[in-house]
Amino acid sequence: MAENKKLEAIATKNRLTRPIVERYVAGNGLLDAWRVTEKLNAAGIDVSLDLLGESVFDLAQSKAATQEYLGAIEEINTRAPGSTVSVKLSQLGIGIDLQQCANNLKSLLQMADAQGVQVEVDMEHSSVGRATLEIFKGILSDYPKTRLAIQANMRRTPEDLLSFTDIKPRIRLVKGAFDETLDDALRSADEVTEQYKYLSRWALRHLPDPAFGTHDDECIEVVKEAARELGLDRKSFEFQMLYGVRRKLQDELVRDGYRVRVYLPYGTQWYPYLMRRMAEKPANLLLFLRSLIGG
Ligand SMILES: Cc1cc2nc3c(=O)[nH]c(=O)nc-3n(C[C@H](O)[C@H](O)[C@H](O)COP(=O)(O)OP(=O)(O)OC[C@H]3O[C@@H](n4cnc5c(N)ncnc54)[C@H](O)[C@@H]3O)c2cc1C
Repeated sequence: MAENKKLEAIATKNRLTRPIVERYVAGNGLLDAWRVTEKLNAAGIDVSLDLLGESVFDLAQSKAATQEYLGAIEEINTRAPGSTVSVKLSQLGIGIDLQQCANNLKSLLQMADAQGVQVEVDMEHSSVGRATLEIFKGILSDYPKTRLAIQANMRRTPEDLLSFTDIKPRIRLVKGAFDETLDDALRSADEVTEQYKYLSRWALRHLPDPAFGTHDDECIEVVKEAARELGLDRKSFEFQMLYGVRRKLQDELVRDGYRVRVYLPYGTQWYPYLMRRMAEKPANLLLFLRSLIGG
């Protein structure tokens, strides 16, 4: 469904989908994102801004997305210091021209570095996974604080993590949101959760300032317990969650002294993002489909 253009056209025009969209998306523009950020910051929660949109079809679109991100980075210190931006390399042109994509990313990193802002790179479908990893490795020595999302479901992940020999990367560990083949990925939910727990313990032990992007109580407990056993300060890693998911749990973690960051999408191109969120919670998918037919 995430790739179905016909359904996308119907869904984006249909006002009845608004309540579900608004649960997961801050709004159409950066100003909407700042409005939501202000509330989250007041609750002790940081954000990572995500300009919605992926898989651009020409370099002009990738340039436009880069410009929008530059605008957001420029405003962070006045609007909400401590915010990061999360970028998808498909939006910066990875599917069109690797060099141009790397250049777009570098221009964001240069500006972010000058402003003291940090950038996170999302991990997308495996069709661009290798290239994402290579581009990330290419910028790491100049921008070692850049964070890369790493998917626990992917079979190559342990090998990929061990391939960082010189500079240990800052990662955001997630379960993985894309439909992958059994050859490439674990597909049983229990297996993915076990792998997530294993990699969480490993990341706390071996990597600087890891982030755990999950809403799963079991995984969160494992992170807390492993950090305790290793004698780590609660501020030496962070939990990340998606805007619209488990808000109460975010407050509880802040109250208990943990760092929490919410991934905050904004923009008009919400359809593929929302479909991935629906896939994670099938009950929501039914609600969404009902809203499309007005039932
Ligand atoms: C900050 C952040 C960044 C991410 N970045 C990436 C990325 O770069 N690449 C990538 O492939 N994936 C990314 N993801 C998505 C991730 O891979 C999972 O698909 C998603 O987080 C669901 O997995 P979970 O760990 O929450 O566990 P699950 O077992 O899926 O969920 C645990 C519980 O959380 C709640 N929950 C989970 N998802 C939803 C939802 N959509 N709506 C309502 N409740 C829900 C439910 O109560 C569920 O029982 C990101 C996730 C987060 C939190």
